[in-house]
Order: sequence, then C-alpha cells, then structure tokens
Amino acid sequence: MAANFGEPRYRANQIFKAVHQRRLRSFDEITDLPKKFREKLIEAADISRLSVESRYVSTDGTRRYLMKTADGYPVETVYIPTESRDTICFSSQSGCPLKCDFCLTAKLGLLRNLTAGEIVEQIIIVLNDVYSVGTETPHGTNLVGMGAGEPFLNFENLISALEIMSAEDGLFIVPNRVTISTAGIVPKIYEFARLENRPHLAISLSSASDTLRDKLMPINKRWNLDELMTAAKEFEGSLKRGERFTFEYVMLGGVNDSDSDAATLAKLLDDYQLSRVKINLIPHNGAEQLDYETSTPERVERFKKLLESRGISAYVRQPRGRDIYAACGQLAAMDNKSAETVTEAIGVE
Ligand code: SF4
Repeated sequence: MAANFGEPRYRANQIFKAVHQRRLRSFDEITDLPKKFREKLIEAADISRLSVESRYVSTDGTRRYLMKTADGYPVETVYIPTESRDTICFSSQSGCPLKCDFCLTAKLGLLRNLTAGEIVEQIIIVLNDVYSVGTETPHGTNLVGMGAGEPFLNFENLISALEIMSAEDGLFIVPNRVTISTAGIVPKIYEFARLENRPHLAISLSSASDTLRDKLMPINKRWNLDELMTAAKEFEGSLKRGERFTFEYVMLGGVNDSDSDAATLAKLLDDYQLSRVKINLIPHNGAEQLDYETSTPERVERFKKLLESRGISAYVRQPRGRDIYAACGQLAAMDNKSAETVTEAIGVE
C-alpha cells in the first residue's frame, strides 16, 4: 500500500505496527507518519471496519460488546476477567450456519464470514477499552475463538487473523494463549493439526451417542462421531509435550447428563484411546427461545466425579455474564437495553 503512494516500503510496516501493536484506530493518530501521507491515507482507506453499538457489563465483571461491521452486520465479543488472567472470546462469523439445538446464535443463521481484519479488530477494541490505547498487551490475556460462528468454516480468514494476533509487531498474543473451538468440521481438524505454530483446540461434543448428537448438533449428520474421534486421535498425535486438547460438553438437564451418559462418554474416549484430553463441562445457559434446562449443580458434580473415576480430567466451566447474554451459546446480537445492567455506548471512531 505504501508503495502506491510513492512512500518507502518500511512505511507499510510502520502502519502495521501502529494499528496492531500500538492499537491506534485512526490514521491521524499515527503522528510518526508525514502529515501529507496521513492525509492521503485518510482519503483512500479505513483503519477501522467495526463500530461498537453497545457495551453491556455483567454483575460479575464480564463485558459483552455488540459491534457492527461497516456493512451493518452484528459482531459480538466478550471480555471475561478473572483474578489470574483475562480472556477475550471473539467471533469468527456474524451469526452461524450450524444449527446446534441448544444455542441462541444458531437462531440468527449465517449472516456472513468476518474478514481477518474484523476478527483482529474485535480484540483491539476490547483491549483498548479495558486497558489504555498504546499500552503493551498484558501477558495474562488469553483469546478463545468460541464466540458466534464456526471458526473452521472461515478457515483462511481465521488463519490470517491468528498470524496477526501472534506476530511480534502485531498483537503479540502467542498461539499458546489461544484456543479455537470447533463443532466438528472434520477435514479442518486435520488441516489445523498440520499447522506449524497452531493454537490449542477444543472440540464441542455434547453427546457421545450419534442419535442424540444428530439432534443436538446436526453437523454430526455430516461427520459422525467415528469420523470426529478418528480426527481427534490424529490431532492428539500432533500435541506438543505437556499439551492437551479439550472436549466441551454442554450439560442439558435430563438430556445428556445421566450416569449412563457419563459412562458412554468415558467409553468413547477409551475406544479411541484418547488420553491427552480434558473435558470441560458447561452447564447450559438457558434462554426463552431454547427448549433446554440446565443440569443441576449436583448432577454436574456427579457427572464430573464419574468421569474422574474413569481417569478422565474433567472441569466445570462456571457460567459468566449470563445476565447480559454473554455466556456460552447466548450470543444472538441481543440488544437487551432493558436489562438491569450497565449499558453504555462507547465512542469508537
Ligand atoms: S454452538 Fe457454536 S457452532 Fe453451534 S450454532 Fe452455536 S455458534 Fe454455531
């Protein structure tokens, strides 16, 4: 781009750094560029493609950002602070084409894939809101690709975004701090396993029986459990020393949370000799439009204990930001301005 303006090559790098490392959001702020060049850039290009419509703050400190692309599509991003680290959950698509039965995002359908720039910009906006512009990315920040959309259906843009995230002169959040979650796009699991510098992987499972998974996650009709587990086994072979990968299991009261469901899940892992895995149990986050109840805390605990008694590491993911529709499976571009939460538009140019 710099060459098109008759500027030396290093200017392109200077702009890249200003946008991603210093997280500046207008050409005007890049004052180390010659003024004339800045003026030409302002006329010819946009730094920012997303605008923040609303920000919702949960009683537990979680923040949900409802953003919009330049062509008007909703994008949602969630910031989840904890004592030891902060996590930013980003979206890869506006809406989602998969029809997971327990997920509100599914109700939107696919609106469109997000560009690599739009994926990265979500993180820049959140970092600038939580910390100040121009400060270094805090070491504790983790990223999870678990917001709206199926990341592996937007694979190329996802990979380009991951490169910018990890670049030393980009956001510099290394792949080891990033986890991408798939509902089970099997061919891409193989492709992801082959990436040299890849982030961690989580696979959303939610049932160890094909009949139930067909209903809960219809993607199972395209790639069934045998195909998914075979890919997972291959992925296990690509793990680095000490690395594990995750199966996510949304717990739906009376649907997939019985003792026998736990036994079937343990047997599935045994059958495919998967040992370097952990299971994240995610109590379902209910909503009026969804037909499922969440499992009781006692059920979740018993399920966890049953898995552990079979030698499987299991963890319960504590729901965050339920009151502002920011929890897992709740992202549906809801403009819940009437909710008893702090709602404020934040200025974004
Ligand atoms: S759970 Fe994920 S993959 Fe499934 S519909 Fe929701 S956003 Fe899409």
